[in-house]
Amino acid sequence: MASGIEGASCPSAQPDMDEARVFGVVTEEREGQRIAYLAPETNVDPALLAGLDGVAPTEVFRFSAKCETSRCSHFDGARCTLAERIKRALAPVVDRLPACTVRATCRWYLEQGGEICLRCPQVVTLNVGSTDSVLRQAATAPA
Ligand code: SF4
Repeated sequence: MASGIEGASCPSAQPDMDEARVFGVVTEEREGQRIAYLAPETNVDPALLAGLDGVAPTEVFRFSAKCETSRCSHFDGARCTLAERIKRALAPVVDRLPACTVRATCRWYLEQGGEICLRCPQVVTLNVGSTDSVLRQAATAPA
């Protein structure tokens, strides 16, 4: 199922990647940070991204972009190992698939199925790069 996905999207992308677009907003909930998935017609003004005044865009938004495949350290030549580790390390935080506009091309979903979507709302791209989070552990654990 995993190999041979052409044109897949990365759902934990950086804003300067090819075809980057915002699809979620980071919210603070009692249980921690969660992604609010944006409606299809929502456009985020680039001026808003430019005006974050030192705050990393990935601290505020989730971006999708064109998957960089072999240029990404998480890609093993066939699939995204980060998605595998997130599915293994994190518990579901919702009990139904979020209304997410990335799903049709999302590499994580295409490779891992709906189980990854039940975990996805707790993924904040910035925290994947932090030093102490479970996300960080998932990002760096052996595949
Ligand atoms: S909710 Fe599912 S389809 Fe949407 S970005 Fe997350 S893993 Fe991909």
